[in-house]
Order: sequence, then C-alpha cells, then structure tokens
Amino acid sequence: MAGLEFDNSFVRDLDGLYERWSATTAANPELVVLNDELARELGVDPDDLRSPHGADLLVGNVVPDGAEPVAQAYAGHQFGGYSPRLGDGRALLLGEVITAEDRRCDIHLKGSGRTPFARGGDGLAAFGPMLREYLMCEAMHALGIPTTRGLAVITTGDDVARETMLPGAVFVRVASSHLRVGTFQYAASLDDPTVLSRLVDHAIARHVPEAVDAEIPALAFLGAVIDAQAELIARWMLVGFIHGVMNTDNMTISGETIDYGPCAFMDAYDPATVFSSIDHGGRYAFGNQPQMALWNLARLAESLLPFIDPDADSAIEIATDALQQFPDRFRRAWSLGMAVKLGLAAIPDDVADLADDFLALLQVAGADFTSTFRSLSRFVDGDEEPLRSSLGAAEGFDAWLVRWDAARATGALTADAMDAVNPVYVPRNHLVDGALTAATAGDLGPFTELVDVLRRPFVDQPGRERYAEPAPPDFASGFRTFCGT
Ligand code: AMP
Ligand code: MG
Repeated sequence: MAGLEFDNSFVRDLDGLYERWSATTAANPELVVLNDELARELGVDPDDLRSPHGADLLVGNVVPDGAEPVAQAYAGHQFGGYSPRLGDGRALLLGEVITAEDRRCDIHLKGSGRTPFARGGDGLAAFGPMLREYLMCEAMHALGIPTTRGLAVITTGDDVARETMLPGAVFVRVASSHLRVGTFQYAASLDDPTVLSRLVDHAIARHVPEAVDAEIPALAFLGAVIDAQAELIARWMLVGFIHGVMNTDNMTISGETIDYGPCAFMDAYDPATVFSSIDHGGRYAFGNQPQMALWNLARLAESLLPFIDPDADSAIEIATDALQQFPDRFRRAWSLGMAVKLGLAAIPDDVADLADDFLALLQVAGADFTSTFRSLSRFVDGDEEPLRSSLGAAEGFDAWLVRWDAARATGALTADAMDAVNPVYVPRNHLVDGALTAATAGDLGPFTELVDVLRRPFVDQPGRERYAEPAPPDFASGFRTFCGT
C-alpha cells in the first residue's frame, strides 16, 4: 500500500504453515469505512487509501509492493471437537508492516475469496458481519482491551448468497500477529518436527523475546501466554463481553481478542448468558469464559510438551504446574479490576467477595451490568437514585452498602477515577443491530454515529443518552447472534 513497508517474517520463517494465494478479484470495490487514525499509525496517508487505487489495494485486487499474500494453516477444537485442518478459508495475510513506533502488524483481509482451506465455504463475507467486526473491535480498543483492530471495510460489488443475497465485503484487520492456539496444534500434528520448532522460535521472538534466555524457553513462553490470556479474559469479564466462540482457532498467542463472530455485550447481568445461535450447551456462556480459556491453554501446552522436557511424563507435570497458575492470575487481574470499578483505592483482602456479592445483587435484580456499575460513581457523588433504582429492591442491598462503605473508608477513589473504568457506552445489541440493518439498506449514518459514540466510552456525551440505555425487553429476550456469516 502506498507508503507501507512490508517485512514478512511469518512467510520467511514458517514454510509449512501457509499456502501462497491471492484474493478473488472484486468486481467493483468501494471503500466504505476507513480508520484514518490507524492508517496513519501504519504510515499510510488515509487520502491515498480513499482513491480508487487504494480500494483496489485494500480489497486485494492489487498486491502492494513487498506484500506476499498467504492463507495461514491452523487446526482447532471447535466446541470441544478437534478439526485437524481449518486455516484461512476466506482470508489472507497480506504481510507484516512495522510502524514508526516499531510495532510489527499483520495486515489481513477477511472475505477475500476461497483459499485451499475453504472446505465447503464460498470464501466470502457479507457486508453486515464485516461492519460488525469493525465496530466491535474498535469498541473494544476504545475500552482499553487488547484486540485486533479494524482498518477498513470495502464492499466488493459482488453478491454473497446467504439466506438472501447480500452485498459482499472485505474487512481489513490489523493484529500483532495471527498466531493462534490452533496454529500450534496444527504444527504439532505435522510429520516434520522442524515446523513446530520454527513456530516456537518465531512466536517467542515476536511476542515473548525475553523467553529466549529462560532455562526452558517454551515453558517461559507458555507462562507468558497464560498470563496474557488471564489478563484478557479478566478484562472481558469486567465489561460484560461474551466472545461467543472461544474455539482454540479463535484464541491468540498475543493476548488480543480475535474473530468477532457471534460476540455480544450482556445487558442484564447473568453469568449464564449466551447469545450465539449455535452454542446450545452454553459452553461459551459469559461465566464459563475463564474456564474455557484454561481449557484452550491446556491444548497449547500439549502442543509444546516436546519442547518442555524430552521425558513425556515430566513435561506433563511441568506444563500442568504452569496451567495451574491460570486461576490465580485470572482472579488477581479480575479482583484488581473490580476494586477500581468499585472505587476502592486500598484493596481489601475480601475484594473478590465484595465484587461477587455485588454481582449477585445485580443478578437477583436483573440489573443492567454496564449502567449499574456506572451508577456507583453517581452514588459516591451524592446522587443515590440510579443505584437504588437498579438494586434497591434486592435483598441484601443495604447490608452490601455498609460493607462497601467500610471498604471505601480505608481508601476511596474519586467518582472521576471510577468513571474512567466503568463505561457509559458499550456496543449494545439493539444499537449494533439497528446500525447494521440501516447500513445494509444503504444508510451508513447510524453506523458512523455509533462508532463515534463508542470511541469515547467513558465520557458522558450530551444528547447521546439513548446510547447508554439497555435494549427494550422485547428485543433483549429474543436476541441471537451468528458466526461464520
Ligand atoms: P470462524 O467461525 O469465522 O472463526 O471460522 C471458522 C473456520 O471456518 C475458519 O477456518 C474459516 O476460515 C472458515 N470459514 C468461515 N466462513 C467461511 C466461508 N464463507 N468460506 C470459507 N471458509 C469459511
Ligand atoms: Mg476464526
């Protein structure tokens, strides 16, 4: 792309984990959404990308100098069942760019046509779901949560057959890498052991360079991924985010949230909340996410065993010890985050209990997760009404207030400090749905406005109060999300 300098370490290092490929030519690419700030960060002038040539580059019709497009191979446990060969069925890694701040970024196209990994799929993506991924990842970024980023959405000019014919689109994604737990599973399954060995070296160099000097680099690497994921899942849990499809192919090594298929934010607090139409057993319900992350990390650990110790039994023992760190790491990150959400400067020993009991009140009251946390700072500022109207009727509320007061007496944060972690605005399902419906019908206005609201989630934006409100009950009760669309 104009001005982009590519340096493709994945292609250079990891022969055996990709197929060189090119995008299906799009009939009439049109750039619909561009993230100007991210474009600049990557060293590209957004105006260049707005030219017809820019759209051709972003959609994959023209390969920019230095790019080496490949479809990446990976395996994955999907809802617990192992698929030995998934890979980018409808996506391409265009290449890697190093930013002025010396960050290596994958530039990745999703919806760019069938690849050797497409299996039965058409390789395409519909406009609505690609806008949805753009919106969700940019909202997560604004919330301060590690995530892949959205650079652009381009309509292709071709139709995509789903239940009806829909406009096709390509989503351009930026990530610190696309290495997944499933990448390691795939490499570990190959006859050639050098592939896994090269993958471990590549991942360490890219994400955990200090692990090179550890006594057992693969173990230090595993520990770092465990920490990064514990931190990430804690952050999800602190904002009510439900990924929806935490298969091992959708879990990164970097600790960035990836593959926003059926994800959604929860309104009324209930740990059993599931939105995905295919998650019948509730495997990826809100409250199961930490456990599922650990399950996935165990699959990563299995792939790494030969590099942890040549003796299989002792490798398992060492890896198990590492995995056992996860619950503590998660609980610590979550408790610290909850302490700030509750406005506690000194962190009491029983902060997790105080937070758990607060959540239990929310659940009993059927209270909205996001706005009830936000109402804590109003309460601290003397306006008790919002919190009382959410939770006042729940048994045990007054007793909880007494405990909260006692905890705050030993060290309290200001209302402003609480507001900096308790968002006013999250991408609520009814708003996202409305914006995508309008966009698919040709009106991008509501989408653009929603993205703009979500860029500053912690700041009250006068005139935009309706974006802070939960969905109407009739919407919320029947809401379902879909993946792979
Ligand atoms: P996802 O649910 O989007 O994470 O995708 C799971 C797997 O299915 C990945 O290997 C995707 O590349 C593949 N996939 C999803 N949709 C399509 C499609 N329309 N055509 C080809 N492959 C697809
Ligand atoms: Mg995926």
